[in-house]
Amino acid sequence: MEKFCVFCGEAPQEKNKEHVLPAWLIEMTGDPGHEAHFGIDFTKEPLKARKFAFDSLVFPACTTCNTRFAELEGRVKPIFELLLSYKPLSSDQLILLLDWLDKVRVGLWLGYLYLDKNWMGIEPNFHIQSRIGQLDRMVSILRVENAGVGLTFAGPHFKSYQLSPTCFGLGVNGLWLVNASGVGLCSQRLGFPYLEPLRFNEAHLLEASPHTGSERIMNPVERIATLPRTVSLYQPVFRAFRERENSEKYLGGDWIKQRTADAANGYGKLFVQKSDSVQIYPDNASTDWAPAELWNKKEVSYRLGEHIFDRIRRNYENSIGLAPTQDERRHLRREGVMARMLDLAMLSNASEVEGNKKSPKRRARRRR
Ligand SMILES: [Zn+2]
Repeated sequence: MEKFCVFCGEAPQEKNKEHVLPAWLIEMTGDPGHEAHFGIDFTKEPLKARKFAFDSLVFPACTTCNTRFAELEGRVKPIFELLLSYKPLSSDQLILLLDWLDKVRVGLWLGYLYLDKNWMGIEPNFHIQSRIGQLDRMVSILRVENAGVGLTFAGPHFKSYQLSPTCFGLGVNGLWLVNASGVGLCSQRLGFPYLEPLRFNEAHLLEASPHTGSERIMNPVERIATLPRTVSLYQPVFRAFRERENSEKYLGGDWIKQRTADAANGYGKLFVQKSDSVQIYPDNASTDWAPAELWNKKEVSYRLGEHIFDRIRRNYENSIGLAPTQDERRHLRREGVMARMLDLAMLSNASEVEGNKKSPKRRARRRR
């Protein structure tokens, strides 16, 4: 696999290495030299569980790209200190956290393509820089009792994630952030203008038809089974509408203007969904983000990985119908079946949760 920068996708200039899980986060969560598991290595015979230290999870980057994004890291570190002590956070801080989660979600995707020597032959059509803050996004927050110190993540080791890097979970000292992003994830049901995906064109760009917003907020924001005892934060992103000639038609109304966090970036305000209500997150620092009830450790190992896997699979399967030709759809379906078989085999043999927390072996589960 040719080396490319995880930020810009070009051949790395003045080579550097990017910690996709930053050193400051690794330090907050225990000994940086501690070994952790990183999925199954399918490139070796016999198959082996990958094991190395968290601070060795580094991938190629340009020096300038790395330096530019170090600024984001510097701003997110104090936010994590507040998160981990369950202190009030402002909507601006949480929006920055969503930017950072975009970065990590995409960084881990590209990183795992490297680790797996890109065995599925995927051609990444975006990288960190071109994906941050582009599409609707969300994070569900949950808190685990007596979790202790540790860094864990779930999702990126699934082969299905290589096909659809749309959802992952990050566990930091008992705080779990389950992050997802995609076209039309929440805009429509939050009353914002939204894009209805039509198809991918020959250049693999998504063609979508624009719709005006209903200016009505629906509850729940997503029509999927949500995780219990979580607080979910949603942010509609209408950046694509700003670039349209007739953007006024979609963005001109007072309703949208009052619910805009950052017009230049096309960021809607943050919405918080919890205990059966959906509301705008307060502008000033608040503990509205913090879940009141706890999860136990066992639930995390059998429920969270499955939830993340289901989200990834659904997103992938929904995208197949958008491929331009029947041949391509057939190819995507075949790849999806293969990835899913490997993932289910892995789920039945090992914990679906990565990192330095050991979880009990998990029973195989048949899916239809
Ligand atoms: Zn670069």
